[in-house]
Formats: sequence, structure tokens, C-alpha cells
Amino acid sequence: DPTILWLRRDLRLADQAALAAAAHEGPVIPVYILDDETPRHRAMGGASRWWLHHSLAALDEALRAKGSRLILRRGGAAATLAALAEETGATRVHCLRHYEPWWRNAERAVAKRLDLVCHDGNYLAPPGSITTGGGAPYKIYTPFWRALQQHMPPPVPRAAPRDIPVPAHWPSSDSLGDWGLLPTRPDWAKGFADDWTPGEAHAHRRLAAFSDDVGAYAETRNLPSVEGSSRLSPHLHFGELSPAQIWHAVGDQPQVFLGEIGWRDYAQNVILQLPEYAAKNGRAAFDAMPWREGSEAHADLRAWQRGRTGYPIVDAGMRQLWTTGWMHNRVRMVAASFLIKHLLIDWREGERWFWDCLVDADYGNNSVNWQWTAGSGIDSNMFPRIMAPLVQSPKFDAGDYIRRWVPELAGIGDTAIHDPEASGCRPKDYPAKLIGHREARERALAAYAQTK
Ligand code: FAD
Repeated sequence: DPTILWLRRDLRLADQAALAAAAHEGPVIPVYILDDETPRHRAMGGASRWWLHHSLAALDEALRAKGSRLILRRGGAAATLAALAEETGATRVHCLRHYEPWWRNAERAVAKRLDLVCHDGNYLAPPGSITTGGGAPYKIYTPFWRALQQHMPPPVPRAAPRDIPVPAHWPSSDSLGDWGLLPTRPDWAKGFADDWTPGEAHAHRRLAAFSDDVGAYAETRNLPSVEGSSRLSPHLHFGELSPAQIWHAVGDQPQVFLGEIGWRDYAQNVILQLPEYAAKNGRAAFDAMPWREGSEAHADLRAWQRGRTGYPIVDAGMRQLWTTGWMHNRVRMVAASFLIKHLLIDWREGERWFWDCLVDADYGNNSVNWQWTAGSGIDSNMFPRIMAPLVQSPKFDAGDYIRRWVPELAGIGDTAIHDPEASGCRPKDYPAKLIGHREARERALAAYAQTK
């Protein structure tokens, strides 16, 4: 009998434990199910769908090169897998384990109907396995990372199976084009293809190029004008690469870089403890925060989303996000902090916008980083440390980055670019600041005082 390989965000052939196990047993039916029913309001956002389309096309091509293919189906995962099993005579399903709360529910539902075998391999260590001496999950990153390192390096990654046995009859498949994952009008994703090539083959190319420069990472990763980080995040999110492959490609040396891969593991451990982390403050005291609401706050939210706040570094970041589906990490921190503290808008509004706009939108990473920035989370209480965008911008040399993403400011020189309004050279088509820094800071601290 054939075995089903249930793919989700593990769209690769190499170092894929579920594929290896299925191929070892006999004929394999690889299936991807477009399932918007199970995650409901957490269904993939627009930018993620663009990535998914291209990643599935690349995976099908890679499978076909081995004589296999990718079957596409749409619907709730449990019912769809049960129907596919019935059609094909398969009884067993292999998958990699995922930790988003809806996927954990779906795994339970599938296991009630079929023989489901879940494998590890999308994280450095299986989430939930790294605990304190007393067996409790870690709440804070630093001790978590220290403990995780005791289990490193991760296992040596395995190569893609040489043969993937095929079933005597292929079940029918949807056509990828019919799924409508790509934007139509307006085509907001026109700029994405300039920056990105989804799929396992390209993920490895990017990893190889980055491994050569990883020595500079600690110095350059904070400079938005320089391409100093790996830009592997969407490849990792969709599982086109495993973190074990990354670790073994770069070696044990680049501690700062590996520590970031460790943040990704940490975030999964947080959502495993607190599945509602994208909706609920980690610290209940934060529920009393008097966030701004109403039409003025709504207009400010729109200005932030469109990159028209009057703070050039924030606006550059928000426009990079809209145009390419990605934003530099330093700028994500500045832009998120600006929404939460300067505009005093609930971090959940920002989390939702990132969820829709990022090609690397990830339930764990996004919610953990938003709560960390807000200071509402289980891991930090830094709301009162209010980041000053106008200090961050020169400190991290964001001039070229701003000129690139905010064309109205392209003609402004290095000193004035960070704050053209204060320098008296704000062009007419660039907005004035929504609020001054000092005023915003006072308003934020007064609001924060109400949470105590
Ligand atoms: P590199 O610096 O090269 O890091 C390598 C990998 O480590 C990344 O690809 C990513 O998988 C992981 N990583 C790096 N930084 C973090 C971090 N702070 N937390 C968790 N994992 C990290 N990252 C996402 O993958 N998805 C998100 O939805 C997401 N939302 C964010 C929201 C906010 C408000 C902030 C401040 C950060 C967010 N990040 C998110 C984390 C980080 O910004 C991105 O992972 C990083 O910018 C991706 O670029 P890179 O691949 O070049 O990173």
C-alpha cells in the first residue's frame, strides 16, 4: 500500500525525516493541502500565499525530476487526508510536526482517523524538549539558548532520498494556478520576484553565498543599508531548508548568527506554552493599557502601514515591507516600537499587518517579537525603554536605505536625511511627523503608568 507524505511548511526533499521514512516504506504520495479551514482567521496572509505558490511549483518540479509528483488538494486537513487515504488505499501518513496551535489540533484530528507518524526536524531541537532542571519550559531566551547549546550541534542533515517509490496510480490533483494564490489586480507583488526565488534549490544557493560572508554578520547585520543578514527567513519558514543544514553549513563559530537561529527555536517553545500568544498579552497587567482607538488612531495606523509617518527610517521600512514582503530586522524593531509607543496603537494591529505582508510571516516569530517589542510578553518588560527613531537612524547609518525606499527623500544628503523636517528641507510630498518624539514619549509613559 502507498504511504501519504503530508507536507505543510517543510517543502524540501533533503533532511526531510517524514519523506525519508515514507520512501523507506514503499510508494509515496506527496500531498500539500491548502487548508484555510483549520487555521481560520490565521489562514496565510497575502505575501505568504505568493511565496507558497512558487515554492509548491518548485517542489513539484524537484519531485518530477525524481519521477514523483506533488498532489494538491484543498480543504480541512483531516477530512482531506481521510478521503485521499480511502481513494488510494493508503493507511499511514508521515509528516513533520508543527507547533502552531491549529496544526497541533489538526494532527490530533488526523491521528484519530489514520495512522499518523509525526517526525521532528524543523527546529534545532524538538520544541518542548529543552526544559529547566525541574522540567519546566523556559520563559526567557538567554537561559533557553544556553540550555539548547548543550544539545548542539544538531544531527548531521541527511541527503534527499535517491529514489522516491511511486504508486501504481496517481490520485487526481488540483491545478496550482486554480488556487488563486497570486495577486491579480492590483499586482502588489510585482517587486517580490526581484528579491526572492522561492524553493529548496535557491535556498541552498543563498545559504552557500551567505556562509562565505558569515564572518561579517556580527558587524553588518544591524545596518539596513548593507545586505548583512542571511535573508533566509522565508526559506526557513516554509521549511525549504532545515536549521540543521544551516548549522552544518556555517559551523559552530558564528555565535551571534546561530543565536538568531536559536531565537526561532525559542519562539516555538513560547507558543507551545502559550498557544494564544498572538492574541493575548503575556503579562495580564498589560490588558489595562489604554491603547488609542477611534478614527484618529485609525488614520495613524493607515499612515504607518503606508510608510507616511514623517519618520524616514520608519517609512522606509514600511515601504520595503510593502514592496518586497520583507523588512530589515533593526528596522522591524524601530517600526514596531514606533507603532506601539509613539502612536500608542495596540501591538496586535501591527502583528496582523506583518502577518499579511511578510513573506516570512511566522506565528511564533511574529508574536514573540511583537510582544518583546511591546514589553507585554513573558520575556521582557521594556515598554518604558522608548526607542528614538531619530537616534537609531544615524546610529545604524540608514541614509542609503531611506533614499532607496522613500524616493521623495532621494535627493537629501547624509545629515538631513534622518530628520528632514528638523533640518528645514522636508519636500512638500513627504508628510510632516504625525507626532513629535518628546510628546509621544510622555504620552506613552503616562499610558504605561496605568498598567501598574
Ligand atoms: P538573520 O539575521 O540572517 O537570521 C537568521 C534566521 O534566524 C532568520 O532567518 C530567522 O529564521 C531567525 N531569526 C533571526 N532573528 C530572529 C528573531 N528576532 N526572532 C526569531 N527568529 C529570528 N522573523 C520571522 O521569521 N517571521 C516573522 O514573522 C517575524 N516577525 C518579526 C516581527 C518583529 C516586530 C520583529 C522585530 C522581528 C520579527 N522577525 C520575524 C525576526 C527577524 O526580524 C527576522 O527573522 C529577520 O529579519 C529575517 O532576516 P534574515 O533571514 O536575514 O535574518
